[in-house]
Amino acid sequence: MGYDLNDTNELIKEANKSILFTTVRPNIVMERGEGMYLRDTEGKSYIDFIGGWAVTALGHCPRVLKEALINQGNTLINASPSFYNRPMIEFAKLLTDKSCFDRVFFANSGSEANEGAIKLARKYGAKFFNGAYEIITNINSFHGRTLAAMSATGKAAWDKLYEPKVPGFKHVPINDLEAIKTSITSNTCAVMLEPIQGEGGVYELSKDYVKAVSEICKKHGILLIFDEVQTGLGRTGSLFAYEYYEIEPDIMTLAKGIGGGYPLSALLVKEEFNIFEPGDQGGSYSAQPLGMAVGKAVVSEIINQNLSYNAKVQGEYIVEKLNEIKDKYELTNIRGRGLLIAFDLPEDKGSEVAAGCLSEGLLLNSPRPNIIRIMPPLIVTQKDTDDMISILCKVLDRVLL
Ligand SMILES: *Cc1c(COP(=O)(O)O)cnc(C)c1O
Repeated sequence: MGYDLNDTNELIKEANKSILFTTVRPNIVMERGEGMYLRDTEGKSYIDFIGGWAVTALGHCPRVLKEALINQGNTLINASPSFYNRPMIEFAKLLTDKSCFDRVFFANSGSEANEGAIKLARKYGAKFFNGAYEIITNINSFHGRTLAAMSATGKAAWDKLYEPKVPGFKHVPINDLEAIKTSITSNTCAVMLEPIQGEGGVYELSKDYVKAVSEICKKHGILLIFDEVQTGLGRTGSLFAYEYYEIEPDIMTLAKGIGGGYPLSALLVKEEFNIFEPGDQGGSYSAQPLGMAVGKAVVSEIINQNLSYNAKVQGEYIVEKLNEIKDKYELTNIRGRGLLIAFDLPEDKGSEVAAGCLSEGLLLNSPRPNIIRIMPPLIVTQKDTDDMISILCKVLDRVLL
C-alpha cells in the first residue's frame, strides 16, 4: 500500500481521501471501548457522556451484547425476512409484554422506524379517513434523515434542503395546544410527538400538553405517534417516556438504545392499527436473527438490571452537581429527565467547550451553539459523574472565566 495504517496520521490522511465528507471529525481514530470509556489509536482514553449519541445504553462492548453476537453468529445470521426466526419471536414478545403495544415491526434505524410509522398513518388515513394524509409534528423536533423523516422534522436549518420535501407535514410549536387544535383538518391522519426533543437541545413536552393532545387525537379519531427513538428504553427514568405522561400512544418508534450500539429499530402498534397488508412494508434486514438476539439481550439487561431506575437516580445526581457549579459559570436552564440532560452556556461557546472536553478526555455534545447536552450510557455511576464534572470545570475555567 505504500503507507503504514498503524500510524494515526496516515490513517487520518487516508480518511480524508476516501471517506465521503458529511461531517467535521476531529483528528482521532477510535479503536476500543469498554464500559464508560473509549480509547483511540494513540492509547488516549475518553470518558463517554455522549454514549454513541444515546445509543450505547449498556456502555461499550457489554458482555451480554458480545455473547448474543457470538452465540447467534454461530447459529443463524439471516434466513431472509420471509421466514419467522426464534429470536424475532422472543424479542417481539418481550417488547409487547413490557409496553402497551401489541405488535412490532423491526427495522434498522430510527429514521426507518419513523418511515414505517408515517406509512402506517397514511394507510390508516387512506383506509378510514377518505385519504387523509397530513401529520402534525413539532417545531424543533427531530425524526431522522430519510426524506419523509426529514420532512417530519421541525428543524429550521433543513427548510431549504433537498427540496421538494415529502408533502403533508405541518409543524407547530411545542406545548401550544391551540396550535394543534387549529392545525387539525379533515385531511389530518396523525400527530407525531418527540416527548423530549433530544437533538433539538433537550426541551420537554409538558404533561398537560401531551395529555390534552392525546384527548384531542382520540376525539378526532386520529393517531398519536410517539417517537421514542431517543427517550425510550430507560433513558428518561422510566422504560418508556409515555409512562411519565400517563397516556398510551397508538404507535411508538424505538431505536438508539434498543441495540446498545448495534443498528436496530422497532415500530410498535396497538392491535387495532395492525393494518398493513402483505407488500406494504418490509426490508431485507427486517427482524434478522442476529439483530433480534442482540436487541433481546440488550433490552432484557436494561429491564433486569433496572437501568431505568439508575437513569433516574444518576440523572438527578448529574443535575445536582450541575446546580453546584452553575453560579460560578453562569450556567442556566439545567433541564431534562433521567439521563437526557442539557444546560445553557452564558455565551455561544458550546463547540469550544466540547472541543476542550475532548482534549481533556471527556465526550460531551453541543447540539446548539449555547447548549451542552449530556446523555451517558445508562450504567453511569456517581464516580463517573464526579470525574465528568471535574473535567468540565477545568474546561469552563479556561473557556468562560
Ligand atoms: C436519532 C433520532 C432519530 C433518527 O434515528 P436514526 O437511527 O439516526 O435514523 C429519530 N428520532 C429521534 C427522536 C432521534 O433522536
